[in-house]
Amino acid sequence: MKAAAALLALLATASAPAPSAFDMVVLGARGGIEDGNLTAFMIHPHGDARAVTCDAGTLVQGLRVAATKGTIGPAPAGSGLSPVGYALTHDIKGYLISHAHLDHVGGLIVASPDDSAKPIYALPSVNAEILRSYFRNGPWSNFTDRGEPPRLGKYHVADLVPGATTPLADTAMTVTAYPLQHGALESTAFLVEHGQDGLLCFGDTGADSVEHSDKLRQVWTAVAERVRAKRLKAIVIEVSFPSERPDDKLFGHLTPRLLLAELHTLEGLAGKGSLKGLPVVVSHIKYALTDVQPQAKIMAELAAGNDLGVRFLLPEQGQRLRF
Ligand SMILES: [Zn+2]
Repeated sequence: MKAAAALLALLATASAPAPSAFDMVVLGARGGIEDGNLTAFMIHPHGDARAVTCDAGTLVQGLRVAATKGTIGPAPAGSGLSPVGYALTHDIKGYLISHAHLDHVGGLIVASPDDSAKPIYALPSVNAEILRSYFRNGPWSNFTDRGEPPRLGKYHVADLVPGATTPLADTAMTVTAYPLQHGALESTAFLVEHGQDGLLCFGDTGADSVEHSDKLRQVWTAVAERVRAKRLKAIVIEVSFPSERPDDKLFGHLTPRLLLAELHTLEGLAGKGSLKGLPVVVSHIKYALTDVQPQAKIMAELAAGNDLGVRFLLPEQGQRLRF
């Protein structure tokens, strides 16, 4: 009887899913052109609310939807803040910005007057473009501590060095940035780490084959060992258009066909079968001005070519995912 109980306990342990390493709240799931649901993912270690966002195309509207769905909040009693207000000014400790396109920074810019002080982390070229284009007098005010005066100093502009691991202030996470080719623009993939675990969040990117680049291969090479060791918990990556879109109309974006080819490159580096069960969150699908939206087609194309066994996920605004 005792042995049977021990066996049952052992079986229960063996079949229990691995504990979550990261929580990710979807603040914005899509690519341009629909304002209010543009690329932004709030990421924090499971059980530790101190978060950063990967891109910030939509912030307050994404938090509002999350509050409605009950995936954030409530704010602590006595804070005097709504769940949206508390998450924006207390839980979000910094922003990782992949590139300066408006659909990746618009939420941050419009929230800046009521936001709390925190860093903006980006590659030097991205920070320079944000300061040149938005945080200056004219289009807005300069809420940062760099660039055109008067500088309001709310956001510390933090330059990331490619491939160097940097602590994310006031969180239990670090980040390592890898440059990407997004048409003529430099974009970024962020490896967010907590303890032994990592989550890889991509900004917009073209495929190496189309961009005549090896930037994605460099990212895959950097994470291959981690994938093999099952210490990469999820990938967030863009698919902007269905596969039929011609290469010269991609403007630095991926299709299902191109993403599958890139994931095969990763599998080639990490080992056959190494991607089995890996969650791949499909971000940045572009809203279409046609009767039919491309989501179903894109997910079907990904499923049809998925001999890797990855778990493609279509994120919805306000959803809390656990990896
Ligand atoms: Zn872009």
